[in-house]
Amino acid sequence: MTPIKNHAILLTLAVSTALTFAQGDPAKTEVWTPVPPIVTPGSGTSAPSDAIVLFDGTNTAEWENSKAEKIEWTVSDGALTVKAGTGIIRTKRLFGDCQLHIEWRTPAVVSGDGQGRGNSGIFLQGKYELQVLDNYENVTYSNGQAGSLYKQAIPLVNVCLKPGEWQVYDVIYKAPVFNEDGSLKTPAFITVLQNGVLVQNHYELKGGTEYIGEPKYKKHGAKEAIVLQDHGNDVSYRNIWIREL
Ligand code: MG
Repeated sequence: MTPIKNHAILLTLAVSTALTFAQGDPAKTEVWTPVPPIVTPGSGTSAPSDAIVLFDGTNTAEWENSKAEKIEWTVSDGALTVKAGTGIIRTKRLFGDCQLHIEWRTPAVVSGDGQGRGNSGIFLQGKYELQVLDNYENVTYSNGQAGSLYKQAIPLVNVCLKPGEWQVYDVIYKAPVFNEDGSLKTPAFITVLQNGVLVQNHYELKGGTEYIGEPKYKKHGAKEAIVLQDHGNDVSYRNIWIREL
């Protein structure tokens, strides 16, 4: 190789290296802040370190009835069970966007059918019901079965366990936002895993749960209580924790 050719090759290499550096500096896309806070996960399904524990199996200190009084639901063997006829219970604290973990069990002794079999429900912000129902070999309308957003969203699959077995909901909820005049700015979204299986995939809620008629939004606070339904059946809950988002 002649000296001139050698110089030309070296020059070409130098130019291409400089161009590569200018166009492809990996540090340009590194983002160092904010630094995610450190969270210690729970063991199994227990609460992670930054969660608010709403029921740990021992007491109902985080709950009240619709009159802001002590609740009559029973605590026994680590479970919180509906006392039929005493009405809903709700969290004393209010929540908006959240990750909610809640375990539930319908009665082992089956009685009733359709909507009358192991019915309860979890109302996000007291308005939007994630149905709790025994749908193990129990047919009802699809948008009213376990894993549905009641009368709005049919679950993707029926992953119900047998009556008497503990089941799990893991919920990721984005609260709706309202304008000053009460109109809807952005709707609520919900993702639900039942027993580890996706049943609601970022569903856009059409409004508050209605028993009769179409769901509709009505302005409410940015944070509201989580409500558990008394539908007259002895449904139990345990290991309830929430992370505010
Ligand atoms: Mg219900």
